[in-house]
Amino acid sequence: MSGAIIDIKFSDFAKEFAERDRGYSSRSVLEDMADAARDFAWAGFGLVDDGTGEPLEDWTDGWYYNCDCRETRIRVNAEATRAAFKSAGVETFEWRGWIVWDASNRAGREIARSIGSSLADYPILDDERMSELEWDNACSLIDDLYTLPEGVEASDVIREMDEVPYCSNCSFCDVEEALAKLEYSRCMDCSAWIKTGEYLSDRVCWDCAESEQAGECECIPNYIDGLRHMSLYPTVSDLRDTQRGCETCYPVRWPHGGAKLGI
Ligand SMILES: [Zn+2]
Ligand SMILES: [Zn+2]
Ligand SMILES: [Zn+2]
Repeated sequence: MSGAIIDIKFSDFAKEFAERDRGYSSRSVLEDMADAARDFAWAGFGLVDDGTGEPLEDWTDGWYYNCDCRETRIRVNAEATRAAFKSAGVETFEWRGWIVWDASNRAGREIARSIGSSLADYPILDDERMSELEWDNACSLIDDLYTLPEGVEASDVIREMDEVPYCSNCSFCDVEEALAKLEYSRCMDCSAWIKTGEYLSDRVCWDCAESEQAGECECIPNYIDGLRHMSLYPTVSDLRDTQRGCETCYPVRWPHGGAKLGI
């Protein structure tokens, strides 16, 4: 019979929550809970206090959570809660976005109570899992937003940061600064990452440097070959100086400045 609540055992928190929410609709929340319990073939119905007096939210991949950090916390707590009930043989389901459990089970009541009081003290049930998810989230954040130098993984970059970029909204993520610590900088011309070692500023990649070659003159290619052997990158002014010192290139690049060469 729909609506009967007499045959259903409610957890204290579910009952308290239902009474608090009275007036939300003409139909009592307890009756809805009782119907849900019957749908699940349960003799009881429980919610879990999330530590703030609200029912503990369930986590489902693909739901919208506004913020990665919020989602990660909900996920960790939902996983830990589901696992605790499961290990005691207490069935759980998702109902209206919350984790609900069969409150006819005595072990379940104890679990719900201890999760509620634990969350009231500290908002995360499993710190280790939290860090693991934050790390994975940071890796996919960086992989999605940045093209890293060849051979550099997102995790290499995160290791150089003061704090794991745990949330795309709330955390600070300076990939360029982390890559600078790994001795990478961007080519001044094409923005490709180059491993510039300790000489980070104003460098151009070898390809861009070679495109500075004037006509058939070999001064630039020869200069670049030398640098390549030492894994060094030139600055724009290094390239200009090379051509300035070249008898072939100088008059081509600076047709009105012959006197400056001093010859
Ligand atoms: Zn956030
Ligand atoms: Zn370049
Ligand atoms: Zn030249």
